[in-house]
Amino acid sequence: MQSLWSKTIQLPRRESLQGDISVENVVIGAGLAGLLTAYFLQKKGKQVIVLEAARIAGGQTQNTTAKLTSQHGLIYDEMIKKAGKDRAMGYAMANESAVNAYEKLIKEEGISCDFERLPSFLYTTNPSEVHKLRQEAQAAAALGLPAHFMEQDGKKELPFAVEGAVCFENQAQFHPLKLIQALAPKLTIYENTNVLSVKQHRIIYQRTADREQPDSKEGLDNSSSRKTGVITAGNSVFATHYPFLIIPGFYFLRQHQERSYVLALEGDGVPRRLSGIYYGIGQGGLSFRSAEGKLLLGGGSRRTGKKECACAETGYSYLRKQAQTYYPKAQEKACWAAQDCMTHDRIPFIGKYSVFRPYWYTATGFGKWGMTASMLAALIISDMICGSLNPYQGIFSPQRFLLRAGIKNFLIDAGESAAGLTKGFFGGKQTRCTHMGCRLTWNEEERSWDCPCHGSRYDEKKNVLDNPAQPESSTN
Ligand SMILES: Cc1cc2nc3c(=O)[nH]c(=O)nc-3n(C[C@H](O)[C@H](O)[C@H](O)COP(=O)(O)OP(=O)(O)OC[C@H]3O[C@@H](n4cnc5c(N)ncnc54)[C@H](O)[C@@H]3O)c2cc1C
Repeated sequence: MQSLWSKTIQLPRRESLQGDISVENVVIGAGLAGLLTAYFLQKKGKQVIVLEAARIAGGQTQNTTAKLTSQHGLIYDEMIKKAGKDRAMGYAMANESAVNAYEKLIKEEGISCDFERLPSFLYTTNPSEVHKLRQEAQAAAALGLPAHFMEQDGKKELPFAVEGAVCFENQAQFHPLKLIQALAPKLTIYENTNVLSVKQHRIIYQRTADREQPDSKEGLDNSSSRKTGVITAGNSVFATHYPFLIIPGFYFLRQHQERSYVLALEGDGVPRRLSGIYYGIGQGGLSFRSAEGKLLLGGGSRRTGKKECACAETGYSYLRKQAQTYYPKAQEKACWAAQDCMTHDRIPFIGKYSVFRPYWYTATGFGKWGMTASMLAALIISDMICGSLNPYQGIFSPQRFLLRAGIKNFLIDAGESAAGLTKGFFGGKQTRCTHMGCRLTWNEEERSWDCPCHGSRYDEKKNVLDNPAQPESSTN
C-alpha cells in the first residue's frame, strides 16, 4: 500500500555496489536518518557512502506523516518528574533546534518540499484528561518551549468538540520524499546492497534482487559477477531503523516496535487544508494534518505483533470507522502503515553503538518522532565523527543509564520477549521469527506474520518486510 508521499514522488534508481572497497565512513540505511547523516558528514568534508538494502527511503520514512515538532505527546511533565528538569530541557531544546535545522537546510539548498510553519496541538476530547494537558502546557512552557494551554480548539478544524489542547507555536510539516529527492543526488548511495554482517571495520554486503524490477540486471539474478563484497570502513553508522546485530549493543533488550496507520481522505466535508497539526492523547487518539489537498488521518496504534485487545480497536479498521463517523462522504485516496522503535525512557538512542566499538554509531528508538530525531542523529553523529562536541550528545547517548521511567517498560518488554520465545520454542519453524526465535502472530488486516517481541514482519511467503530480522542468508 503506497503512501501519499510515494504516490506523488518517484525517486531515481541507484546501482548496487560491486567489488571490495575502502571508505572513510559508511552509513548503513538510506532512510531519513541515514541520508541526513551522510549529507552532514559530506558537508563537513568527510568521505561517505550510503548502503541501502532495498530502495532509498523505502523503509519507514516513506510511510511517515512528516510532522516536524518538539511536541511528542504527553512527555515533558513526566520527563521532568522522572529524569529531571535539565534532561527534559535538553530534549526539548534539541527537538526545537532540529525543526530549525530543517528550515535552514531547506533554505540553504533551495529545496521545495512543502515545508510550512504552523502550530501543533495536543488535544483531548475527554474532560477527565484536561488536567493532564494543563500540566503538560505548564511543564513545556517552564522548559522554554513556545507552549500554552487552550480551553478549546478555537479554530474548530477538527470534526469533534475538543475539551482542551496544548498549543506549541511555530512547528512545521513537510513532504519527506521531496526533501530526499533533492538531497539524494548530492550523495553516493548504493541501492539493493544489503549489509550481512559487520565485524570491527569489515562490512560484508550482498547485492540483492530488486523486488520492483525482477528482470533487472542488478541483483541476485545477475550471475556474471560476485554477489557479495567487503568494505573496509573507518566508521560505520547503523541507520537501519532497528540495529540488526544482536551483539554488541543488545538493542533487542532496550526497545520494542509499535505500528500505526494512516488514511488520506478527500471529498465533501473533508478539509483540504488545516492550519495546524493535531495529535490526540489517550487510547484511540487521532492524528491530523493536511498534505497535497488531502486530510491525513492517523492512529490505530498497537504494539507490532500484538492482537487487538477487547478494550480497544486498532489498525485500518479502527481508522476507517472513525473516518466513516466524522467524514461520512470521504473517499479514501491512500492508506499506509509504518512502525517505530520505542525505547524504555522515550528518548532515542543516538551516538556510539557500543563502548566496545568506538567507531560504530547508531540512530534508533525514534518513538514515532523520527523526523526531528533523524535530524538530531545527523547533527550529533556527524559532529562526533568530526571530533566536535555536540551539546545534545549526552542526552541521547545509547550508553546512558536506565532511568526510573525506563525500568517498568524494560520489565514489560522482557516479559513479552520471554513469552514470545517460549511460544516460539514450542511452535513450528514456519511461525518462528528468524531474528531470535519468537513465535510470530498472523496479522489478517495486513496479511503478514508479525513478531510481538521485537517487531520484525514477514509477508505470506516469509520474505522479511520489516527488521530487525534480516533475509535468510544474513548472519551476525
Ligand atoms: C505511522 C507513523 C507516522 C509517523 N509520523 C511521524 C511524524 O509525523 N513526525 C515524526 O517526527 N516522526 C514520525 N514517525 C516516525 C518516523 O517516520 C520514523 O522514525 C523515521 O521515518 C525513521 O527513519 P529511519 O531513517 O530511522 O528508518 P527507515 O526509513 O526505516 O530507514 C532505514 C533503512 O535502512 C535500510 N536497512 C535496514 N537494514 C539494512 C541492511 N542490513 N543493509 C542495508 N540497509 C538496511 C532499510 O531498507 C531502510 O531503508 C512516524 C512513524 C509512524 C509509524
